[in-house]
Amino acid sequence: MKKQFCKYWGKWLDILLQLFSQTIFPRRCPVCDSVLSFRGSLICQDCFHKLSFIKSPTCFKCGKEVISQRIEYCSDCTRRKRTFEKGMALLNYNEAAKKSMAGIKYHNKKEYLDFYAMAIAAKFEKQMIRMKPDVFVPVPVHPSRKRERGFNQAEVLAQKISRELEQRTGVKIPVNGQILKRNKRTQPQKDLNPEDRLKNLQKAFCVQKLPEEVKTIILVDDIYTTGSTGEACTRALKTAGAKKVYIICICIGYGK
Ligand SMILES: [Zn+2]
Ligand SMILES: [Zn+2]
Repeated sequence: MKKQFCKYWGKWLDILLQLFSQTIFPRRCPVCDSVLSFRGSLICQDCFHKLSFIKSPTCFKCGKEVISQRIEYCSDCTRRKRTFEKGMALLNYNEAAKKSMAGIKYHNKKEYLDFYAMAIAAKFEKQMIRMKPDVFVPVPVHPSRKRERGFNQAEVLAQKISRELEQRTGVKIPVNGQILKRNKRTQPQKDLNPEDRLKNLQKAFCVQKLPEEVKTIILVDDIYTTGSTGEACTRALKTAGAKKVYIICICIGYGK
């Protein structure tokens, strides 16, 4: 009787706490930041249409959109050596996406990642499960940058994707933010050409010890541009003994 009583009130307390937190911290749209009026929605309808979701045909390697079905690889993947197996991306990196990503990184809007994690899990759940990954590994930021921001957006994204995937499919793929480390604070990458980007990054990532059971990895990041970060991380992971590395990201630069 007592147990039932507690269960009953526990449920109500849960609902009350949820309502309370939604009143104090209402959910906001990840693109325009306005308060969402419908309970349960993660983005406003107008903003959903401002985002450019990746459509076929895409590059066989990185997942970037290409202009014709006859093109197998985008110009970046044609020119540069790729050691990762395959990339998956949700969005083209347009103005709306750029604004949203900046909000996450520089204005502490971690909750924006709920929408992206849900959309990534919905789009790629079958592919991710087919890859049989042992672990999600977030692309690390330098510890001093993590201290400034208070979090690593790629790690939060990886945790949310892992949770979504488990809820949708029952398959639990853990997140390990300790495997890959960033030991060098790199200069801003946008000022460098792709060759120098990779050189700059190769020394920046290291793997202290890859757990023996970890063979297949899904690397998680927010933005993929030329692929040099993903490539540098993959090389570090494979040198440490990983067999297969896939990449998943929210945004990818427009294909040529
Ligand atoms: Zn909006
Ligand atoms: Zn490509």
